[in-house]
Amino acid sequence: MKYLVVGAGFSGAVIARELAEAGHTVRVVEARNHVAGNAYDYVNEHGIRVHQYGPHLFHTNNKSVYDWLSKFTEWVPYQHKVKAQLEDGRFATLPVNRETKDMVGEENVLDIFFRPYTKKMWGMELDELNPDIINRVPIRDDDNELYFPNDEYQAMPKDGYTALVENILDHKNIQVMLETSYDKDWNWMYDHVFNSMPIDQYFDFKHGNLPYRSIRFTTVTLPIPRALPTTTVNFTHDGPQTRVTEWKNIPCHGDNKYSTTLTFEEPCDYVDNNFERYYPVKDRDGKNRELYEKYKNEQPENMKFIGRCGLYAYLDMDMAINSALATVRKFLV
Ligand SMILES: Cc1cc2nc3c(=O)[nH]c(=O)nc-3n(C[C@H](O)[C@H](O)[C@H](O)COP(=O)(O)OP(=O)(O)OC[C@H]3O[C@@H](n4cnc5c(N)ncnc54)[C@H](O)[C@@H]3O)c2cc1C
Repeated sequence: MKYLVVGAGFSGAVIARELAEAGHTVRVVEARNHVAGNAYDYVNEHGIRVHQYGPHLFHTNNKSVYDWLSKFTEWVPYQHKVKAQLEDGRFATLPVNRETKDMVGEENVLDIFFRPYTKKMWGMELDELNPDIINRVPIRDDDNELYFPNDEYQAMPKDGYTALVENILDHKNIQVMLETSYDKDWNWMYDHVFNSMPIDQYFDFKHGNLPYRSIRFTTVTLPIPRALPTTTVNFTHDGPQTRVTEWKNIPCHGDNKYSTTLTFEEPCDYVDNNFERYYPVKDRDGKNRELYEKYKNEQPENMKFIGRCGLYAYLDMDMAINSALATVRKFLV
């Protein structure tokens, strides 16, 4: 094997496929017992598809990413909608639109939808957080109800994300080893390593830890046909949970007419969740980014860090794929 890819999430799978198609042999090692990284999904005992690490909605304006993925999956159209449940039980559209502002009063929007959510999601007050994070969820003046109103391509892979990533990795030049954690001593065996492990972990945290937020998931199946008005419902209260997702509301996620499966999310520090790293923390002063840069400057010559934990950046799937394609194509020139 000429190249090593660490991690079989989207970033690693895309890089492995491009290298394989260019005629190179690639070994992919994955610590978990499945491919697809945090986009991993499975069908549960009730015939309902569940995303093990929280709801993954594919949305992009990047046609080349959509076209690239379309070689490996059929799509079903799906436009995500989210409601917030107010403390009195009423449901209001998110992101906040005109109807939502009319319901709660424009002057209350920050206190109802942003302040408590930020505190539980990030463990920080609103003004401690980098404004970029809040600005990702714009407030609207119209009655549009879509969660991603501006994205041209919004769809779900017909057979799920796991099957999609399995198809990407299905090439005679690619060998996948599950339940195999990367070992630095292997570097000499390969011409180059593409590494999606946490960059601070690679360097044994010698400059300090890069913080992440994590989420504890609780999945329950209820003996009722449907529970929620939209796929995801956010909570505005200051209790520990942020949101709940009803999987059957997404097309091709099962059609059990007797029961429905829901997943609740409770954010926490990654240290309190078995070191499961989900969201890099973007602090207002950029201290975490500085620490990341320190590590990046020490990247070995025959290694590129890739993906969410290698780049220490929150990347949606389309961004992770776009970044992986750019990295591998530059490498192959
Ligand atoms: C809760 C949540 C919800 C999300 N929702 C959306 C969404 O709706 N839409 C969207 O576009 N994106 C969403 N994302 C982002 C999406 O998960 C990422 O874009 C995508 O997973 C990035 O893929 P990756 O390969 O960079 O990282 P990952 O998916 O994290 O894959 C990295 C892989 O590397 C493996 N690994 C790490 N260290 C080692 C090691 N030492 N040895 C071997 N293997 C190792 C890990 O086990 C993992 O499988 C969400 C993310 C989270 C956490």
